Amino acid sequence: MSREVDLFVIGAGSGGVRAARFAAGFGARVAVAESRYLGGTCVNVGCVPKKLLSYGAHFHEDFELAPDYGWSPGKPGFDWPTLIASKNREIARLNGIYRSLLLGSGVTLIESHARILDPHTVEAGGERWQAKHILVATGGWPQKPDIPGADLGITSNEAFFLPALPRRVLVIGGGYIAVEFASIFNGLGADTTLAHRGDLFLRGFDQAVREHLRDTLLAKGMKLEFGAEPVKIAKRSDGSLATSFKDGREIESDCVFFATGRRAMTEGLGLENCAAKLDDKGHIQVDKQFVTAEPSVLALGDVIGRVQLTPVALAEGMAVARRLFRPEEYRPIDYELIPTAVFSLPNIGTVGLTEEAARKAGHEVKVFESRFRPMRLSLGPHSEKTLMKLVVDAASDRVLGCHMVGPDAGEVIQGLAVALRAGATTRVFDETLGIHPTAAEEFVTMRTPRAG
Ligand code: NDP
Repeated sequence: MSREVDLFVIGAGSGGVRAARFAAGFGARVAVAESRYLGGTCVNVGCVPKKLLSYGAHFHEDFELAPDYGWSPGKPGFDWPTLIASKNREIARLNGIYRSLLLGSGVTLIESHARILDPHTVEAGGERWQAKHILVATGGWPQKPDIPGADLGITSNEAFFLPALPRRVLVIGGGYIAVEFASIFNGLGADTTLAHRGDLFLRGFDQAVREHLRDTLLAKGMKLEFGAEPVKIAKRSDGSLATSFKDGREIESDCVFFATGRRAMTEGLGLENCAAKLDDKGHIQVDKQFVTAEPSVLALGDVIGRVQLTPVALAEGMAVARRLFRPEEYRPIDYELIPTAVFSLPNIGTVGLTEEAARKAGHEVKVFESRFRPMRLSLGPHSEKTLMKLVVDAASDRVLGCHMVGPDAGEVIQGLAVALRAGATTRVFDETLGIHPTAAEEFVTMRTPRAG
């Protein structure tokens, strides 16, 4: 039996679902195939469960603060299975919402693997589908380094379902996932080490932000090992794992967590049955309008490896749906000034250029920087500081970048991203009144540029 659609989407993650729903809303006949879980990485093994675990880990600090505010919380206990069960309930609810969003917008959902047979034919759920356009939105998958014993380690996929909180965790990597999960494990009370092959984690983030986070994590008891390239993991007779590094260091733990990047999910898709090509990192190559080398086959989201963030995939899904079925409303995506947060504890929020990138781009730069103890910590002997930083083009006064390390940094930076997109100068920041007393008001009250 053969069926006909205008758009066949492979992958019901953030980007695929957005494209499918809006295309159906524009009157297209749409089918979506998903072989794993509705909502993709973000909903199931990414942003959403990660943030829930991060909230869970933050309680630790709240209990520490409580006595200064007159509360006697006693000795707090933590139960990992309860947190995971609550998280699983919430994710099941979100899976249901995704299902009803798709079905409610008239999309045909096929819960099965899909394979491209030719530029206009897909096989899924035991049927052949004829499609005017095929959209690949299959996302990414964690990758482990190719070292002996790598199979003894887990990735983010498994971390969300561990039966118990490990007593000692070694997180390997220095990107978003590494610092976020190391913060979660550390906050929940595991003896946590983060080992990164570079000299400091979060390559590409502002240097002041990276150093501030490093110092704060050390003060919170996390162990950090830099210049640490793993070469081998071995299991000891007592079940513990010994990870050896190139320079001879060895770290013993009960769990090794690889946060060493993600690869594009392209296996078994039948891409070889059309002209679509992969780049040298294995991502599907597309043009500005997300079209592969095969004109009827498009791709978006993590599988094209451009900017691996949910809001970007959503924007790409929207752009594809409009270009194909509502071209008069199509607007290309602007990949500049994408705000982002790292949900380490404390959080990082950032938008625009780092100081280093601004200088490299030839700007003469003025920097406004402030480090202060947030008011919430003022009642006790707490020394943790919040960092805020503005990078400004000296010639035009335009704010090029805003960076923050501190509580709710993502919430603060989201608002500033609007200001930067509107082209705000420091004068606009200065003329904006603060909300008192907040930490965020510091962004509009920093008056003196850093010397040098
Ligand atoms: P990243 O690409 O951010 O980081 C990968 C890290 O692993 C880097 O520090 C890299 O080191 C290191 N690494 C890579 N290969 C090896 C190896 N063979 N041995 C040792 N270390 C290695 O990947 P993540 O997996 O952390 O995240 C993937 C993407 O997902 C992010 O880039 C981000 O776009 C997105 N994401 C966003 C989040 C958010 O918005 N809050 C949260 C989580 C993920 P080096 O720097 O030296 O290359």
